[in-house]
Amino acid sequence: MHELSIAQSIVALAEAQAHARQASIVEELEIEIGRLAGVEVQTLAFALESAVKNTMLEKARIVRHDIEGEGRCGDCGAVFATETLFTPCPRCGSYAVKLIKGAELRVKSIVIDK
Ligand SMILES: [Zn+2]
Repeated sequence: MHELSIAQSIVALAEAQAHARQASIVEELEIEIGRLAGVEVQTLAFALESAVKNTMLEKARIVRHDIEGEGRCGDCGAVFATETLFTPCPRCGSYAVKLIKGAELRVKSIVIDK
């Protein structure tokens, strides 16, 4: 399952950061998930619950930020909210749109206890 391997790599990344700071417990994990990152958010939330078992993140509070999609038109420069990767520019109709927000999938921060 796609989401489970993502969850495992999020946990591994957070653990690596915690180890680097000589922590023993991660109290909070803050992640950012773009709406266009290609993951099913609910599935990922469930996957994270199982991925944290027996790790430093077992008791961690998981704070999730959903990032709305935003595109910039390569032809006229308009910036607009978008819900898909293939939305044309609302100003000029161009499809030369670059996604500037919404594809994030990353660990924003962790709170640790030593
Ligand atoms: Zn445009």
